[in-house]
Amino acid sequence: MSAAEVEQVTVVETVEQVRREVEAARRNGDRIGLVPTMGAMHEGHLSLIRAARQACDFVAVSIFVNPTQFGPHEDLDRYPRPFEADLRACAEEGVDLVFHPCVETIYPPGSSTIVEVEGLSQILEGKYRPGHFRGVTTVVLKLFNIVAPDVAYFGRKDYQQQLIIRRMCRELCLPMTIETCPTVRESDGLALSSRNVYLNDEERQTALTLSRCLQHACDLIRQGETDLDRVRLQMREQIAAVPEIDLDYTTVADAESLAETNRANGPLVALIAARVGNTRLIDNMLME
Ligand code: AMP
Repeated sequence: MSAAEVEQVTVVETVEQVRREVEAARRNGDRIGLVPTMGAMHEGHLSLIRAARQACDFVAVSIFVNPTQFGPHEDLDRYPRPFEADLRACAEEGVDLVFHPCVETIYPPGSSTIVEVEGLSQILEGKYRPGHFRGVTTVVLKLFNIVAPDVAYFGRKDYQQQLIIRRMCRELCLPMTIETCPTVRESDGLALSSRNVYLNDEERQTALTLSRCLQHACDLIRQGETDLDRVRLQMREQIAAVPEIDLDYTTVADAESLAETNRANGPLVALIAARVGNTRLIDNMLME
């Protein structure tokens, strides 16, 4: 299939087409930026694209709902896929190339190679979504190998994910850099997520408790609270007071190792994961 022009964005589906487009840009001396996404774009995704647009000459966006990062009872089948709207958004942001592969392109039948960052992939999100990060690192390394970007952009919204990807890049000596962009929120604090479309009005109101809980933890620590166990207890109590929230975890951890430290003076991150109705939400706040 030849590259299709959709509102000035080149959309390609095969590895060979990506290579051709990127190699042409590289011959031009372009700095190549990659923004990996699962589509259903919102301002969070667009903030990554804008960061890439600012720092790079050629911006590639991948849109791929990666089956291997979903658990058997998760929302793979109902994950939103508004492809045409995504393409329009990419065109408006001046994206040069959209890579939209099918599952068989990324996982040829019989594929058996996986990439896993041990340890960091097993805690927090990894504990509640076994195999999730293995799926993420496997697809992200494939995308890096296909596009060969100089820099790839990720959101701090998925805090543990960007830490794991940074570590994978470092330990596998990948010749590229990772940029992490701040979490984009609604004006009331709700972190933007493609899964927010699942929430009804009542659930959306309930979901605000998550960012408020994180904000409260940050405020306590900034005001001088040094007993992090006490902060963690308060976070759990705040969530327990809202019976509509089904908590997986909420904690304050070292911002690099994600260990539950008791040292309040280095960089810390407050994290939360919970279900509101049938929707699983995650959020975090960094204290540098
Ligand atoms: P996804 O399509 O959910 O895989 O997300 C694609 C990228 O967008 C990931 O690097 C996410 O961390 C990032 N992202 C998602 N939501 C936000 C947000 N609210 N603010 C900033 N980045 C985000």
